[in-house]
Order: sequence, then C-alpha cells, then structure tokens
Amino acid sequence: MGGFLYTNRDTLSVGAVYHFDSLIRNPIEPYTLIDTLLKNPMVSEFIKDKVPVKPDIDKNLPQEEKLRIRFGVAKLIKTWYEIREANFSPSGRERLIESGKYKDAEDIQSTLSSIQEKMSEKFGVTFGTDYLEDEYGAKLVPDGKRCRMKTPFFKNILFVGDAAGRGVFVGPRIEGLNVGIDDGVRAANAVARALDKNDFSNSLGEFYSKSVEQSPYTIDMKQIDKDYLKIFLDAAKDVPKDIIGSRYGTVLKMMSSSTFRGIAVKFANIIGYDKLLPMIESEETYVKVPTLLAERLGKSISSSYSPTIPSMADRIANLNYNDDSLAHIKVLNSNSEYMKKMVILCPAKCYSEEGGKVIIQHEGCVDCGTCSQETEWRHPRGEKGIHYQYG
Ligand SMILES: Cc1cc2nc3c(=O)[nH]c(=O)nc-3n(C[C@H](O)[C@H](O)[C@H](O)COP(=O)(O)OP(=O)(O)OC[C@H]3O[C@@H](n4cnc5c(N)ncnc54)[C@H](O)[C@@H]3O)c2cc1C
Ligand code: SF4
Repeated sequence: MGGFLYTNRDTLSVGAVYHFDSLIRNPIEPYTLIDTLLKNPMVSEFIKDKVPVKPDIDKNLPQEEKLRIRFGVAKLIKTWYEIREANFSPSGRERLIESGKYKDAEDIQSTLSSIQEKMSEKFGVTFGTDYLEDEYGAKLVPDGKRCRMKTPFFKNILFVGDAAGRGVFVGPRIEGLNVGIDDGVRAANAVARALDKNDFSNSLGEFYSKSVEQSPYTIDMKQIDKDYLKIFLDAAKDVPKDIIGSRYGTVLKMMSSSTFRGIAVKFANIIGYDKLLPMIESEETYVKVPTLLAERLGKSISSSYSPTIPSMADRIANLNYNDDSLAHIKVLNSNSEYMKKMVILCPAKCYSEEGGKVIIQHEGCVDCGTCSQETEWRHPRGEKGIHYQYG
C-alpha cells in the first residue's frame, strides 16, 4: 500500500493506493485504509484545518437567551462551512457568484472573514484544529505492467491512456497523465492521416499502434518489464541484508549482493517480469519489510490532535449526484464469490448481501470501476451519476 498528498491551489488531495489483487485476496473495506492513513500522525499534521468551536453558554442566563445564543452560533457556523466549502472548488465558487449574492472571489472571502469575526466577537466562538473533508472518491488505476493492451485498437476504435491500460506505476513513478496526452496526440495524428487518405480500413488502428510502440512511455514500460528485478534490487539496496534474508529467503539475499546481482538480473529477465510480480509486489514488500524497518530504524511520533473522520454515510451524502433511475451496473451472478467480495470492496458501500445473494444499489456509485469484472458495467448515461467538484 502507498499513499499520496498533493497540494492544490486551495485544498489538498490525500489518497491511499493499494493493489486490487491484494484486496481480492484479503478483502478489507477501502475506506478503512484511507482512514488509517488520515489518522497517521505523519499525515494528520499536514491535513489539519481551522474549525469553529462552540462556546460554553453561561448556565445562569435565562432559557430564552441561551436558546438565542445557541441558535445564532449554529446558524453562523453552518453558513460559514457552506460558503467556505463551496468557495474551495471552482464550480462551487462559480455557483456562489452566479447566485448574485457575491460580486467575485474577493467578495466571498471578505464575507467569510466577517462571519468569522462576528462568531468570535458576538458569541465568543474560538477556533480549534481538525480534519475537514470536502469530497470523497475512488478510482481504479490501470497498471501498465498488468493490463496494457498489446494492440491498443479494435477495428476503428483507438484506445488511449487509461482505456488502453498504459499507466507507468513503479514505486514513486506514477505516470498516467503524460502517457494519456501522448497517446491522445498519436491517436489524433492517426485519425488526421486516415481522413487525408480517406482510408478507414484496419490501417488506421495499425498506424496508431505502430506510433504508440515508438512512444517514449512504451519504451520505458518495456524497459521496466525487462529491468524489473534490477529496479527492485536498487530500491531495496539500503534495506539491511538480514531483513531481506529473513523475509525473502537466501536467494534474494544473494541476489542483492554485488557478486550475484548481474547473474540474477539476467536470469530474472529470462523468467519474465510477470512471474516476478507476485513475489515482489507482495505482503512482504508492502507490509512486513516496512514494518521491520520502522521497528528497527524509526522513532515514535504523535499527533497534536485527533482527526474527526466522517462516516461513510456522511461522505456519500456530501457528494453531488445527478441520479439516474436506470441502473448502469447489473450483477451477472449474484451468488459468485467474487461478487460477495464486492460487498466489502465497493468504496461506496453499494453492494449488500440478502439471503446469500449479492444485490446492488447503484445510486451511491462513485464510478470507480472496481466491480467491473463480473458485472455488466457502464458509466452512467450522459450527464448522470457522480459529479466531482474537485476533478
Ligand atoms: C488518485 C490518482 C492520482 C493520480 N496521480 C497521478 C500523477 O501524479 N501523475 C500522473 O501522471 N498520473 C496520475 N494518475 C493517473 C492519471 O490521472 C490517469 O492515468 C490519466 O488521467 C488518464 O487519462 P485518460 O485521458 O486516459 O483517462 P481519464 O482522465 O480517465 O479521462 C477519461 C474521460 O472520459 C470521460 N468519460 C467516460 N465515459 C464517458 C462517456 N461515456 N461519455 C463521455 N465521456 C466519458 C470521463 O469522465 C473522463 O473525463 C492518478 C490517478 C488517480 C486516480
Ligand atoms: S458500484 Fe462498483 S463502480 Fe460503483 S463505487 Fe461500487 S465498486 Fe465502484
């Protein structure tokens, strides 16, 4: 498992990344993984935000006055949260301006400041620290080592980027955007050429496929396939040899020594990276070795606060959907073991089991693609389905 924390203009994007294969082997709710990451002090310190804290109301005040204060505070806090949240996303900001209540982004900002001032001065609201989540989402990312299409076309349909399963994901190298853009340009050139020649035979796809073969990313992907063990050994070179030995056995310990490394890499290239994947991308690499390393070399850290993690029901309720009455996903075999795992693995809790049969409620679907293998799976129609505010 890995994670990322991206800085955006006004917000942060935090995510947990894990292998689909490992979740299929040991199903665990995806949100428990992200929640664990959010609570990790290394992360929680970066994601802390300023939140209003309701004041203690003087018990001696008349009941009516106490109610007036409680209502005033609650109303101001609600308005502050609503404007603040909308203001963070470009579409939300646009909506606020379009409502006619605000002239521009500056006007929204000054309204927020004045509400904040009013909360403090009039009602004694203070500000504390907590985690505030604006949007929850999930997405299956195709790994080029596992699901790259050999020829990225079918008849006159050209597949680019993620659709062709062409992401480069090796350790810290997370590249899908550049691959998608490069493929898109190559596909556009192939179509322009076909238009010029008025030739829409198979040569369109073949020309595109050849062009994709020359892409620097395809060359990289092939090199990664070829050098997979070498990349792994390079990444593991600072791991103490006894840890490598205790987790992976004597053979890998020998491979990581300079004497046998060259021979091992040549041998691994003959076996092929696909046979190495299960050994290298395993629980040993992602869980046990880092745990041993942390126990031996790490130091304990603590967080200055405990982040409030929203419930799944709150997360889904906070998302924007254009509901479609027509289900875009159909379960093909409601008794299959695979579908039973989806009850745990769907990040939006769309699946449940009733009387031994798996059923889906598509309305909360976040369109992640996780369940596509054994279902009739489509994106929602047209403008329907989830509308992410932050991309
Ligand atoms: C959390 C996360 C972090 C990532 N980080 C990085 C990173 O740091 N660097 C990097 O290079 N890559 C990163 N990636 C990968 C990268 O985002 C993707 O590889 C890239 O966006 C793929 O581009 P694409 O054009 O192939 O597909 P997409 O970006 O998925 O575009 C497909 C588009 O088609 C639309 N669509 C789907 N169905 C229909 C339909 N029926 N009608 C009309 N439109 C439709 C979709 O809404 C979507 O907009 C990350 C991915 C994720 C999920
Ligand atoms: S129903 Fe399927 S595509 Fe939708 S969120 Fe759940 S797993 Fe993802």
